[in-house]
Amino acid sequence: MSSHRIGLLALQGDYEAHGKALVRAGFPRCDMVEIRSFSDLQSLTAIIIPGGESTVMSMLLERFGMFEELKRQIENGMPVLATCAGLILLAKNIEGNDQMGLGVLDIKVKRNAYGRQVDSFHAPVQTIIDSVGIIEGIFIRAPRILASGKEVEHLAIYENEPVMVRQGSIIAATFHPELLPDAPVHRWFIQTFV
Ligand code: GLN
Repeated sequence: MSSHRIGLLALQGDYEAHGKALVRAGFPRCDMVEIRSFSDLQSLTAIIIPGGESTVMSMLLERFGMFEELKRQIENGMPVLATCAGLILLAKNIEGNDQMGLGVLDIKVKRNAYGRQVDSFHAPVQTIIDSVGIIEGIFIRAPRILASGKEVEHLAIYENEPVMVRQGSIIAATFHPELLPDAPVHRWFIQTFV
């Protein structure tokens, strides 16, 4: 077995787009594993939690008995790249919603927070990561980060609000960097954490 194993949480959502982004970023497909059960969660180097529907993902994590184990591994330092619904799933505080989150990332989020008319849009996003620079933010029924704790670093800003954050080895974006042709965020994530 290879020494690196990146898990794609594959219960629901756009995990395939993340797999393709990792390939574009130079990561071998054979070192990725789709995560659908408790046993798949063993021996991971890192995990990607995709966009999709956070309520559904949360429910399926519970149903398949994976919720506590995933939370435990992230709390123990397993690197995570999460996008959109994935970010919501990680958040400590989900506004107006009693859905079960993993509660490992010290942010307060509001789901579907850009309103119906503009619930999907593209906009330039400035990151503080040299190798990433300014990227196109693809926001799809995106959440907004309303507040963040002092351990949370803001990696990217859009309209004066954080849209990509880091807390230790947790990286989470409100938009969809997996849809960028050159996959700069995935490239940086692999270089930094894998
Ligand atoms: N609105 C979705 C949710 O609340 C997230 C949308 C997305 O992941 N593109 O889970």
